[in-house]
Amino acid sequence: PYEVLIIGGGPAGAAAGVYAARKGIRTGIAAERFGGQVNDTNAIENYISILETDGPKFAQALEAHVKAYEVDVMNLQTAEKLVPGEEPGDLIEVHMTNGGVLKSRSVILSTGARWRNVNVPGEAEYRNKGVAYCPHCDGPLFKGKRVGVIGGGNSGVEAAIDLAGIVGHVTLLEFAENLRADAVLISKLKSLPNVEVITNAQTTEFTGTNGKLDGLNYKDRTTGESHRVEMEGVFIQIGLVPNTEWLKGTLELSKYGEIVVDARGATSIPGVFAAGDATTVPYKQIVIAAGDGSKAALSAFDYLIRTPAP
Ligand code: FAD
Repeated sequence: PYEVLIIGGGPAGAAAGVYAARKGIRTGIAAERFGGQVNDTNAIENYISILETDGPKFAQALEAHVKAYEVDVMNLQTAEKLVPGEEPGDLIEVHMTNGGVLKSRSVILSTGARWRNVNVPGEAEYRNKGVAYCPHCDGPLFKGKRVGVIGGGNSGVEAAIDLAGIVGHVTLLEFAENLRADAVLISKLKSLPNVEVITNAQTTEFTGTNGKLDGLNYKDRTTGESHRVEMEGVFIQIGLVPNTEWLKGTLELSKYGEIVVDARGATSIPGVFAAGDATTVPYKQIVIAAGDGSKAALSAFDYLIRTPAP
């Protein structure tokens, strides 16, 4: 069995792997796709000490760093069930979709999250070419330009307020009749001179020229009429879904499905820790996930030295 078994190989899992291996304990990482969301990222400009890199390069560097240590890297492996021990200190099992069962004295869950898509023509085609998901990451790319925000919940309205300070003009489109964000955010949004809000708007298509986004079409749900808004960028803010469906009923999840963790990354099960976008830790960013992963590994080590081996 492993002493630390990490599920997920994004920035959180990779950092946990390096920290655990440096303690000289038997460490394994199983990941569906090593690198995680970073693989889908274009430019990364906010990982401190790296002025600029791209996603695939960063993902390769994560893997190379982990492989520089004695870590069992199991790529293309999907976990489907977590079985805690009967007593604290017992081995914890992780069942994989290929039928295998991995056992470990402690487990770190770092299965990340995925952005919900609108699922209309042009979205996939112009992803990273105008279609974006993370205002903290990509907002500055659209300095002075026209952008859209899809979604009028808290994330969408926060994104619109944030972007209004950087870009030239923001059009926020909400599917429902009213914005669903907190009143204080809505009144802040309405005080901004360069923001327009369109409600009852169903986005039907993202369009582009020369491989770059140039606008979107939407249907007014009250009249059925089609309209067009021209823009250089659009931020889709209709939800970030944690990859934790397989953990439902096993450990405590928030109402959004995030793994509930304390300041040390401990979950509701002794010996099971969690890190990164899959957890309740606020702000989903690479530098935060990596910091969380290292924290979870140190917590797992602390747990192991205090818990007798089975
Ligand atoms: P993830 O990166 O999501 O990794 C999760 C890992 O778990 C993957 O290896 C996945 O395959 C694996 N996994 C999932 N389910 C299972 C399972 N059941 N069994 C086994 N393995 C599983 N952040 C920034 O800081 N700067 C940026 O510029 C930036 N740009 C972004 C651009 C895009 C398009 C996107 C989508 C995100 C961007 N982010 C950016 C956010 C950043 O990528 C995430 O915050 C970060 O990757 C989270 O790391 P993580 O390790 O928690 O999860």
